[in-house]
Amino acid sequence: MSPTTVIRGARHWRTGEPIDLAFERGVILDAVPARADVVVEARGAVLSPGLVDLHVHLREPGQGSRETIETGTRAAAAGGFTAVACMPNTDPVVDDIAWVEWVGTRARAVGRCRVHPIAAATVGQRGERLTDFLALRQAGAVALSDDGRPIVSAAVMRHALEYAGHAALPIVCHEEDLTLRGEGHMNEGATATRLGIRAIPAAAESVMVRRDVELAALTGGRVHFAHLSCAASFDALRDGKRRGLEVTGETCPHYWMLSDEAVATFGTDAKMNPPLRCESDRLATIEAIADGTIDCLVTDHAPHTADDKRQPFEMAPFGIVGLETALALTLTGLVRPGHVALARALELWTEAPRRVFGLPEVRLAAGSPADLVLIDPDAEWTVDPAVFYSKGRSTPFAGTTVTGRVLATFCDGEITHLDPVVGLTRVEAPAAAVAAAR
Ligand SMILES: [Zn+2]
Repeated sequence: MSPTTVIRGARHWRTGEPIDLAFERGVILDAVPARADVVVEARGAVLSPGLVDLHVHLREPGQGSRETIETGTRAAAAGGFTAVACMPNTDPVVDDIAWVEWVGTRARAVGRCRVHPIAAATVGQRGERLTDFLALRQAGAVALSDDGRPIVSAAVMRHALEYAGHAALPIVCHEEDLTLRGEGHMNEGATATRLGIRAIPAAAESVMVRRDVELAALTGGRVHFAHLSCAASFDALRDGKRRGLEVTGETCPHYWMLSDEAVATFGTDAKMNPPLRCESDRLATIEAIADGTIDCLVTDHAPHTADDKRQPFEMAPFGIVGLETALALTLTGLVRPGHVALARALELWTEAPRRVFGLPEVRLAAGSPADLVLIDPDAEWTVDPAVFYSKGRSTPFAGTTVTGRVLATFCDGEITHLDPVVGLTRVEAPAAAVAAAR
């Protein structure tokens, strides 16, 4: 028999009103029953639909030394996520239905959250021949992307957008002009000059965003801009929206938390692509979130081995982890300073990403999937990568004291994470259930 779980004494994420909620067989019930098998005492914690991250690198197939579907989704659950969309730049590239299905099957076997595969837009992510969008969608792909690389050819991008329209899938664009990027490894500016590191101008990103806004206009196709990081890119996206085009965009916590000066302090733990930008771009990121230009927040969780990140700056790979710090960095960097309200911040991690990719809705209402997270928005803690569930440990936030903690995560009615440190959440089986179990 499926257990009945009750969450008691929570606060509704949007209204702040007290809420009790029960679920059974993965579905929220219309009333809280008198008897339950599991009772979670929320003690005033905020109850929200589970978070969704549209941009993670789970590294499987083929790169299990960096992360696996098992460890990546465990980290996701610890971060309050009940669904992630994973990028196809693995080894091999997820560019056919067999690999899309493999990711889905593997995730159902070992995953701690729902996993929605993103398939490559071109064969081998080589930017030449389009993959079979309709078949990939049938196999479970929710979007198409050559993430990790741009689609260099405007003609290929045009055809991709036309074809994706027929498949009703968005193209997720990693925007980077490779000729402008050159051999750069961090943002162009005073810090790069001082450190003697070859640099990438912000325009390497924004010129491609401009191009693809125009191609969205030409084709009527649906473009979702990945990990936007600079003022000029936000302006291009704003412009596309003003023109009524099918364009959406995302950004990541590190772009509102840090500027490129962090590279001087944190070295390769502050090396990601796009790179941390200058202070005015950081402020523009906050503005683009606050004014609704940015549609949703993502982590771009990109784990690497410690050995890889320990190399000299220009040798080390781009990418940091993000799943286990995302919510806290949102509360610390956006909500506490008053840039956005708590409910809006949570919307940017819950309803908004579900809308962008057309994923099933989750509401705190009868009949909805029991994909939920309990949050203490005021709990302070210090980031310690040594206790991450992710295999990746590289983050510039190690040792940073942050506010906001995930107490418990429930996916499809299962408890997928219970905070081991704070201990505010108690799961108890009532006496009757304990007796029955004996
Ligand atoms: Zn990317």
